Amino acid sequence: MPPFTDTTLFPAFYELPTPAASDIAAAPNSPDDTTSWYLLAQIKENMTLTKPTLICTDRRGMDFAITFEDTAMSLRGFKKGHMLVVRRAARTERGEGKKAVVRVEAGRSGDAYVIPGGLEQVFELGFLLDREGVGEKCAACEKMEGPLMKCTGCGIAAYCSKACQAKGWSEMLHKSNCKVLKSIKEIWG
Ligand SMILES: [Zn+2]
Ligand SMILES: [Zn+2]
Repeated sequence: MPPFTDTTLFPAFYELPTPAASDIAAAPNSPDDTTSWYLLAQIKENMTLTKPTLICTDRRGMDFAITFEDTAMSLRGFKKGHMLVVRRAARTERGEGKKAVVRVEAGRSGDAYVIPGGLEQVFELGFLLDREGVGEKCAACEKMEGPLMKCTGCGIAAYCSKACQAKGWSEMLHKSNCKVLKSIKEIWG
């Protein structure tokens, strides 16, 4: 699981690099790439005029715009309050009367992912997953002996019984955390 506390790996908006777009595009795109960084931003508003544009808030509470040069890109599924992840995001320089933005170049829309949860929820889950024992003890009663069943939704949370699984789902927030964990796993493995 990714260490969300690492601000080199997960920089805030003003910590993003501002290189020429061509430099970023030339970077390798492979699953075991260890040179990537990820912008984490909570979606605040859809401000699409000519290009798909989202106003987002970064981990330090700064608001900024993310635009997609690929105008055919659909923002359906990019919901307010959810988190947008942009792999190898770059920031434009502030120009005369122009605010800096994050521009996702054409052909790089595949580097944008959505996690169906807010920043706070994602950071909290990241913190929990960093602790030992997740998946090795029942997420509801903390029992460690006997066979544990993994949640079929996320494949991360484990339970000792159907009763504990039901409790975890309804009383312990797994209903809302499950899909967040699933998408974290899909992005970072
Ligand atoms: Zn249990
Ligand atoms: Zn689950």
